[in-house]
Amino acid sequence: MNKKIFVTRTSMPPYEEFIERIKPLWDTHWLTNMGKYHRELEEKLKEYLEVEQLSLMVNGHMSLELVIQAMNFPEGSEVITTPFTFISTTHAIIRNNLEPVFCDIKPTNFTIDEDKIERLITDRTVAIVPVHVYGNICNIDALDRIAKKHNLKIIYDAAHAFGEKYKDMGIGSFGDASIFSFHSTKVFNTIEGGAVTTNSKELYDKLYDLKNFGIRGEEIIAEIGANAKMTEFSAIMGLSNLEYVDNNIKIRKKKVERYISKISPITNVSCQKFDDIYTKYNYGYFPVLFENEKKRNNIYEQLKKNDIYARKYFYPLTADANCFENKYSEVDLCVARDISSRILVLPLYPELPDEIIDKIVYIIAECV
Ligand SMILES: *Cc1c(COP(=O)(O)O)cnc(C)c1O
Repeated sequence: MNKKIFVTRTSMPPYEEFIERIKPLWDTHWLTNMGKYHRELEEKLKEYLEVEQLSLMVNGHMSLELVIQAMNFPEGSEVITTPFTFISTTHAIIRNNLEPVFCDIKPTNFTIDEDKIERLITDRTVAIVPVHVYGNICNIDALDRIAKKHNLKIIYDAAHAFGEKYKDMGIGSFGDASIFSFHSTKVFNTIEGGAVTTNSKELYDKLYDLKNFGIRGEEIIAEIGANAKMTEFSAIMGLSNLEYVDNNIKIRKKKVERYISKISPITNVSCQKFDDIYTKYNYGYFPVLFENEKKRNNIYEQLKKNDIYARKYFYPLTADANCFENKYSEVDLCVARDISSRILVLPLYPELPDEIIDKIVYIIAECV
């Protein structure tokens, strides 16, 4: 009887609408390789995200891998990044033969701590890869200053920040480039998908090569590229979903407000703070912090018993992933380790019933 409640639920357009939109593919038989819908979605997203250039990709991870590759950093260079993120961010750096240098985060909004970056810079540092984690915007102004001063590139992992704005500008227009994920679990999805945004036409052109084996002409292979092209089915899913995303974000905001109003009176539980002056949010995630790891884990289990599947995003830190075999265990990440041990991301999506929100808060209140 109890339906399982997951941390998110994929947004899908009405079935008939999607079927109508994919019908033409049965005439053209053109299913991928920068087809009509790929081009159309690139244009629509450029407009929606208010960015100058946008290259669609097969997923968010390849967007990050390829934009890092496009920067041609010398092998073994150091990239300052946050460990409080999805593992993709760290993997993309290492898979480019670069060394991640983990910087601690701020307890306020969980993004990279700009005051701890400069002490990590060496003569091998080439870039910063910060993450707008949960859609919380990094201190862009400070990061810009640091990057200029030390001649570093900034590539934002904006996988959580679709449609967000900072100081009235599209979030993808900052730094040298940003990457977005359009995975099914994100605020906007193309089933699987992603994009790189940038102000540089040169970088856009390079990514066009890199996502298609480096092929520039029938007989010209200009780059050692990968295959990271978005298919026409995904592009059409994106075109359909784009029509509903504004309304979805509006409903998400209402759900978040309900959570906050119900949780704030409870002691020893703290919610996410929103900066409503400079930032337009997408309300993609609702993280809450508990007193300690034991409480967090207890609540996670209690919710599970009620068929409610909250997630310990982001625990463990990427720096502590098994595959790195304690290589980074001595790195000073005390804030990140503390937050990671106490945080829980609660279910949040447009169709999440208000009664379920109330039930979740009730279970939390009982536990604390
Ligand atoms: C989802 C996500 C990615 C990877 O995106 P995919 O589309 O799943 O490849 C990268 N970084 C962060 C922070 C993410 O949440």
